[in-house]
Amino acid sequence: MSTWRPGRDRHAVRHPASPPVRGTTTPDSTVVVVGGGIAGLAAATGLAERGVRVVLLEACETLGGRVRAWPLDLPDGQRGTMSRGFHAFFRQYYNLRALLRRADPDLSRLVPVADYPLQLAPSAGGPPVVDSFAAVPRTPPWNLVGFVAKSPTFSVRDLSGVDVKEALGLLTVAFPRTYTDLDGVSAAEALDRLNFPHSARHLALEVFARSFFADPREFSAGELVAMFHTYFVGSAEGLLFDVPSDDYDTALWAPLGQYLAHLGVEVRTSTRALGLTDTADGVEVATTSGTVTADAVVLALDTRALQSLVADAAWLGDPDWRDRVHALGSAPPFGVGRRWYGGCLPALGAFLGTSGYGPLDNVSRLDAFEDGAARWSAQTGGSVVEVHGYALTDTSPGTRDRLWHEAARVHPVLGRTPVVAEQWLVADDCPLVDTSPWERRPTVRTPDPRVVLAGDLVRCDWPVALMERAATTGWQAANELLSGFGKRGHDLWSPPLEGLLGRRSSRA
Ligand SMILES: Cc1cc2nc3c(=O)[nH]c(=O)nc-3n(C[C@H](O)[C@H](O)[C@H](O)COP(=O)(O)OP(=O)(O)OC[C@H]3O[C@@H](n4cnc5c(N)ncnc54)[C@H](O)[C@@H]3O)c2cc1C
Repeated sequence: MSTWRPGRDRHAVRHPASPPVRGTTTPDSTVVVVGGGIAGLAAATGLAERGVRVVLLEACETLGGRVRAWPLDLPDGQRGTMSRGFHAFFRQYYNLRALLRRADPDLSRLVPVADYPLQLAPSAGGPPVVDSFAAVPRTPPWNLVGFVAKSPTFSVRDLSGVDVKEALGLLTVAFPRTYTDLDGVSAAEALDRLNFPHSARHLALEVFARSFFADPREFSAGELVAMFHTYFVGSAEGLLFDVPSDDYDTALWAPLGQYLAHLGVEVRTSTRALGLTDTADGVEVATTSGTVTADAVVLALDTRALQSLVADAAWLGDPDWRDRVHALGSAPPFGVGRRWYGGCLPALGAFLGTSGYGPLDNVSRLDAFEDGAARWSAQTGGSVVEVHGYALTDTSPGTRDRLWHEAARVHPVLGRTPVVAEQWLVADDCPLVDTSPWERRPTVRTPDPRVVLAGDLVRCDWPVALMERAATTGWQAANELLSGFGKRGHDLWSPPLEGLLGRRSSRA
């Protein structure tokens, strides 16, 4: 048996592709993949590599979806880029990394960020509290022991107040059961039950909940616990992450688009799918540049775009499934601000997560890792800085100004450095994983075998989230169709499905 692993965690789980359905070989199938985000790119790759003809439709000018970047002209005459915001590429994103390897076999275009510091605003005139994961061991349980021992947010007195039974529950998870066990419970309630010290509650856990773009009172406890398992106590890959070495288009999606074109995929950017019709020849997809008829369709869309296409295709699915799609929620808006500063800011690290600074969730300095931003910095002596605010209650320009004001509280030098150019983006296209029953979330399979779903809004029973859920369900969507076409799918990987203590007891 092969001992190959996609990372350093020897407990990572391989999910072999299901064998092809016997007697169903369809040699010349065509599939339309709607959506060129991570999920659509994974689905297109999985299908095209097995010889399926693929047409990939993407409404925007560039690929990548919520991890998209595009060029812009700066006032100093130079070229810059804007994107949908800083993204952390964690080492346990096995299926996303498998996708990126198609165009970058040794992942040389991902560079490590040395630390994942988290800063809690000072209270009552004290200094800010900063937690760091750089010196924490990566393997459970030593990562947990090391974090608690080193963290300024846990004192011995605080630890005595922690609800040990609830805390041990984090180590006895088993997926997908844990998702359903926590139906109806919010992340905020789960945090209350743990009775962690105030600062630890904010810093180590609430920061994570907010990075799902949700208010912890609306966000699923199952998703929070899964995240805690995936990124920390249940995986030996560690909490440190990588970032692309240049803007997303240059580093990731343009090369992947070329790989797809080389496989014969027809990549149609700036092309929106307008409607789906059931015809005698298959599913007809009407687009802004004509119609395409296919044997099957992958809908790899954000929540509202999926709901709109499904609502207009009254023939698709059954009433229960249509209700489940309709019931999906979107997370509140988030804002991404980017500034080109006329002064070098080396004291700012590559990334800092924040808590307690109003709507500010993190600050990153792009010239610390993106080649294009670093070139601009070298030529002008400037710096490119980005701020994020999630689960915003106010999206007016006042919030943008508040984010930068708070960023200057964290890094006072920002308040003293001139701004050369600025971009601001507000969107609300992230799915809300709320407290409603996990089983009700739509899966890759739909009632119609010709139509499959993919994306981070789709239920995946393994402990994967965000970009990795998008990639995983994209591959799963391809596998589902490949199986029906009589072709072999792709093996997938996930972090362990059980927590540390669960693993021990199930072996005993
Ligand atoms: C600010 C921000 C920061 C984030 N940070 C992280 C992070 O650090 N780590 C992490 O793991 N995740 C992060 N995420 C989440 C991550 O971006 C998403 O989980 C992931 O990109 C979702 O991919 P997707 O393919 O499911 O959906 P999308 O990327 O939304 O792709 C859907 C695509 O469909 C296209 N489309 C829509 N309608 C149509 C139509 N009618 N026809 C054709 N195309 C259409 C859209 O243009 C889009 O390209 C972050 C998200 C944001 C917004």
